[in-house]
Amino acid sequence: RTVYVNGEYVPENEARVSIFDRGFLMADGVYEVTSVLDGKLIDFDGHAVRLQRSLDALDMVNPISTEDLLEVHRELVRVNEVEEGMIYLQITRGAPGDRDFVFPDPETTEPTIVLFTQNKPGLADSPAARKGIKVISIEDIRWGRRDIKTVQLLYPSMGKMMAKKAGADDAWMIEDGYVTEGTSNNAYIVKGSKIITRALSNDILHGITRASVLRFAREAQMEVEERNFTIDEAKEADEAFITSASTFVMPVVEIDGVALGDGVPGRVAQRLREIYLEESLKKAI
Ligand code: PMP
Repeated sequence: RTVYVNGEYVPENEARVSIFDRGFLMADGVYEVTSVLDGKLIDFDGHAVRLQRSLDALDMVNPISTEDLLEVHRELVRVNEVEEGMIYLQITRGAPGDRDFVFPDPETTEPTIVLFTQNKPGLADSPAARKGIKVISIEDIRWGRRDIKTVQLLYPSMGKMMAKKAGADDAWMIEDGYVTEGTSNNAYIVKGSKIITRALSNDILHGITRASVLRFAREAQMEVEERNFTIDEAKEADEAFITSASTFVMPVVEIDGVALGDGVPGRVAQRLREIYLEESLKKAI
């Protein structure tokens, strides 16, 4: 694989980042994941806008223009022959000489930017999407700025491990009795034909897939309600699903061992997945 590091395309085993990089020492960095279908980028513009938002929130300087960023994405897709998969992008605050809690001067410390691709055949035609996934609920003990897409992913990682140990696929996190989001995705329930998902705030990541899916849903005259829901309400819902750049729309068929509806992917979730794949591919670049 060829990867991109600070302006250069290099073989992955020649890529180097300093041990003093604040991304490594302090999780002082942000990231984006953009999916690739048919060799094209899905929702690139949305990811570029959110990247800037995350950088601004952390007073970080963006080392690359959106135009150049698009070019790097396309070049990596081309050289690595990615038909279906993902592009991971990470920008950290860089490597000042010493470890210090105080942010280094952006005049003297350049951010570190890294991009790499991952081939994932079967992303669109996914066996998991046909079966649906099982989630467990866990407490949301993350910090209060979940709207910033930082690389501090230890708790989400632990959440996935808790799910795995419980024989499930993922975890939904709960705060003050209400579901916030999945460990790496936004969470939804369906009652009748109404799609319910938590409204945007600092409590959740503003999913790029979420924004597109809700727009497509409204365009298709589907009813959308953005409000909090409890895990008990979710267990009694007709359907549930998650969205993210790497899963698109993924049906949830079980929550804490309770089967939803008939225990198979619901009609609304399946339809939304189809709409999302079709519409986002039309706009892919
Ligand atoms: N919430 C969290 C906590 C996430 O990590 C992600 C994906 N990284 C999402 C939601 C979904 O965001 P997107 O649709 O932009 O991938």
